[in-house]
Amino acid sequence: MSLASQPFPEVKIERCTGCGRCVAACPERLFTLEVTGYRKHAALPAPERCTQCGKCLVECPFNALS
Ligand code: SF4
Ligand code: SF4
Repeated sequence: MSLASQPFPEVKIERCTGCGRCVAACPERLFTLEVTGYRKHAALPAPERCTQCGKCLVECPFNALS
């Protein structure tokens, strides 16, 4: 899977459950889990380091990464 339209994945916070699979999947360890209000969700604080490998998109069970 490629990231054609943008150079790094975007977390759709409303779909993210904070399960952490993307954190484990990313070879570059780019994801963190953050809390906004009462919701835990993934975040990508340094998207410029993304290598576009696509592993996080494959691993997310909730289609929360685009
Ligand atoms: S595409 Fe690869 S390098 Fe980029 S955030 Fe996802 S798993 Fe990490
Ligand atoms: S794998 Fe998907 S649902 Fe789980 S924390 Fe990452 S973005 Fe959120």
